[in-house]
Amino acid sequence: MKIIAIGRNYIEHAKELNNPVPKAPMFFMKPETSIIRNNNPFFYPDFSKDVHYETEIVIKICKVGKNIEEKFANRYYDEIGIGIDFTARDLQNICKEKGQPWEIAKAFDGAAPISEFVPKTNFPDLNNINFNLDINGNTVQNGNTKDLIFNFDTLIAYVSRFVTLKIGDLIFTGTPAGVGQVKVGDKLSASIENNLMLDFEVK
Ligand code: ZN
Repeated sequence: MKIIAIGRNYIEHAKELNNPVPKAPMFFMKPETSIIRNNNPFFYPDFSKDVHYETEIVIKICKVGKNIEEKFANRYYDEIGIGIDFTARDLQNICKEKGQPWEIAKAFDGAAPISEFVPKTNFPDLNNINFNLDINGNTVQNGNTKDLIFNFDTLIAYVSRFVTLKIGDLIFTGTPAGVGQVKVGDKLSASIENNLMLDFEVK
């Protein structure tokens, strides 16, 4: 399986990092080895001094597809979860300056903790899902999928022009504003519609 992650998909987040608001979706990939499941801890990597959390709604692909038309995109994902797109911001900034790919900042081991997944039919409106991240009991990110620049269906249509989507693939759909540093000892708790989905520690 593969993880496709969307960058700059919430206007307020693009602004907070001084990035332009994109005219088309932009994506990068994380390997399977970046996944952390079952609320296992995230081990702070020794190559960064500025690891940031980015809380994102994650959709799970349930059908193989290429060149998917947007009007049929909803048939290609059936479950939703939440994940953290951990980013070594210091390394990413160096990559950006040099015009290099971001993999060392985004694809490292443990850079993608994910929750269990729930049926998308649990949600009456996929374009109106609230989610949030608390760190040590304080809410640091609050998002709603109504603020996505490119919604789930648009993302699937766009990504599948370039990359065949396969069963079990995950799409991290972008983070709202409020990203920031984590430190050793932090406890991260991510919820969708106030249901705690993901709960783990930084070690
Ligand atoms: Zn992200």
